Amino acid sequence: MGEEPLSASHSKPVPKVTFNNSADWDLFEDLPVAVYTCDKEGYITSFNKAAVTLWGKTPEANKDKWYVNWEIFTSDGILLAPDETPTGKVLKYGRAIKQQEILIKRPDGSVSYILSNPKPRFNEKGELAGAANTLIDITEQKNAESKQGMLASIIESSEDAIVSKNLNGIITSWNGAAQRLFGYTEDEIIGKHITVLIPEDRYDEEEMIINKIRANERIEHFETIRKTKSGEEIQISLTISPIRNNNNKVIGASKIIRDIGRQKKSEERLQQYAERLEILNSIGQVISAELDIQNILQKVTDATTQLCGAQFGAFFHNQVNEQGESYMLFTLSGAPREAFEKFGMPRNTAVFHPTFSGEGTVRVDDITKDPRYGKNAPHFGQPKGHLPVVSYLAVPVRGKSGEVIGGLFFGHEQPARFTREHEQLVLAVAAQAAVALDNAKLYENIKELNEKKDEFIGLASHELKTPVTSLKGYLQIIARNLPPDDKSKVLANRALEQVGKLTILISDLLDVTKIQTGKLPFTYADFDVIKLLTELREILQQTGPSHQLLLNLPAGELIIHADSQRIEQVVINLVTNAVKYSPKADKVIIEALVINNKFRVSVQDFGIGIQPDQLERVFSRFYRVENLASHMSGLGIGLYICQEIVNRHQGRLWVESTYGEGSTFHFEIPINTNDLHDA
Ligand code: ADP
Repeated sequence: MGEEPLSASHSKPVPKVTFNNSADWDLFEDLPVAVYTCDKEGYITSFNKAAVTLWGKTPEANKDKWYVNWEIFTSDGILLAPDETPTGKVLKYGRAIKQQEILIKRPDGSVSYILSNPKPRFNEKGELAGAANTLIDITEQKNAESKQGMLASIIESSEDAIVSKNLNGIITSWNGAAQRLFGYTEDEIIGKHITVLIPEDRYDEEEMIINKIRANERIEHFETIRKTKSGEEIQISLTISPIRNNNNKVIGASKIIRDIGRQKKSEERLQQYAERLEILNSIGQVISAELDIQNILQKVTDATTQLCGAQFGAFFHNQVNEQGESYMLFTLSGAPREAFEKFGMPRNTAVFHPTFSGEGTVRVDDITKDPRYGKNAPHFGQPKGHLPVVSYLAVPVRGKSGEVIGGLFFGHEQPARFTREHEQLVLAVAAQAAVALDNAKLYENIKELNEKKDEFIGLASHELKTPVTSLKGYLQIIARNLPPDDKSKVLANRALEQVGKLTILISDLLDVTKIQTGKLPFTYADFDVIKLLTELREILQQTGPSHQLLLNLPAGELIIHADSQRIEQVVINLVTNAVKYSPKADKVIIEALVINNKFRVSVQDFGIGIQPDQLERVFSRFYRVENLASHMSGLGIGLYICQEIVNRHQGRLWVESTYGEGSTFHFEIPINTNDLHDA
């Protein structure tokens, strides 16, 4: 009692401390810092309230040692045996330990960070008598530290630049991303005014920002321009929040700065990509629908010149004529033909060679500085008066089997105009162009063959006509001269019938040829079409007795101005077809009427009918529906001729049909067609 419990120092022996509170001890009792003493075995001899709070229980005399029921760890979390703890060591070695950080864990699992300051106590003889310890709870401070450390590392590792400044605009913190974005290191920038980052013409923005911050307002996603250390202007998005002190007073601002240049660029690129894709698609569509070589060349030249931003573009295309000689077609864009024509075709010079030999693309920022340039006589470079080409891009165009069929050339008077992207775009169009050119070539071949076929048909039918006409004449004489009871007369008449069919076939073929060449003759005159139909039915009924031909006509006469023979030809054709394509039926209905100042004839049968997808095609030259029965023979030209005849009368011919039930062919011609003239 009465001793100073905590005056322990190995130089100054202290009397034994009792496990009791003295009046002096009261002083320690209420200290916010935990204090305890223990004897040399470690049994607690005195303690204050704060120590009880820290232990989480009141220690029992002669039972509890200094750690009571704590587990003690180093601050890194390594469990310590009692004699390794700071107090344990003091009791072992008799030397004071200052401010050792330990972690204590109570039975309820709660932990605290502690600064432990144990000192040895000695008796009068100077022997170690125990220890006294002050323990400072630093848990809160530790947590705050680690939170701050965490925040600092979040800020440091952020992809966004994070910068703070005070209300005077002086930069007070700067993270790694800010350094990467602006180029200044932390040392260089801290203490500088924020305007080092702002382009001069935007200084007023800073005032606006500071005003808002003073008014405790946030600024979100403000898109603007800032300046880097190298002077480059970059597009950024700013989010600025006020920083307040403990008294809630605004003392500065924190800024999160996002580089949106890259994002903007990639948006732009995406947009550009989509646009280019669209252009490529539409070029593809346009040129693949085109079958004329010159048109394809022109469209490709125009499109590619535009796509790569060239001032002028040219497409040279190797062609081989029928004699096997090769020649070159070319189209231009952005320059008149005369600009090229006076220099002749590009020659196999060092500059053009890689393109025409198919070696590859040539893209040069300045062709006048290229070693391949200017090597050839007579011009040694671009001929005088040539379009001024500096930027140069040339792409070979290859055919299906890989052979070079031409080249696309582009020029610009400024250097470095063509990029790799331009090159790729042109290559893509060149590939499409090659396919289109191949198709056009095939189409031309087919057209040529078709023309040859038409020529042959025309020639053959013409050659057949004369002998068949003579044959018909001779047969007529023979038939006429045979006595009526001669059996051969029947045969001669049958032969005449067949020759008649042959004559019709030949004249149909000749008609087709004439239609092709635009020379089918017409002779227009006024005639009574009702009479014509009535007489025609009589004749047709005699030749085709298998079907009954029913005729519905308006009463009286109807004079029209037309080619009666051709109209007759149409009706014969339609009725003959109706009979031919309805072998199981027994009638055909022919109806004529006047409707809207037009004369209409409809021929209805109850035969095989026509499938919907064939309806239009039956009018094509040489078209016949597939798999027709063998007795339905024909050449597929009757309806083609009919259509031409009706068209030439300014009328129309069409069909309605139900497959398997029958068809009705209609034609209609205007009644007042006095403007039709013989041809
Ligand atoms: P062709 O009768 O000599 O074959 P057309 O030009 O007169 O030639 O007719 C073309 C095709 O149209 C015929 O081959 C046939 O398939 C179809 N066709 C024409 N008329 C009829 C019809 N009345 N009923 C069904 N099919 C028809």
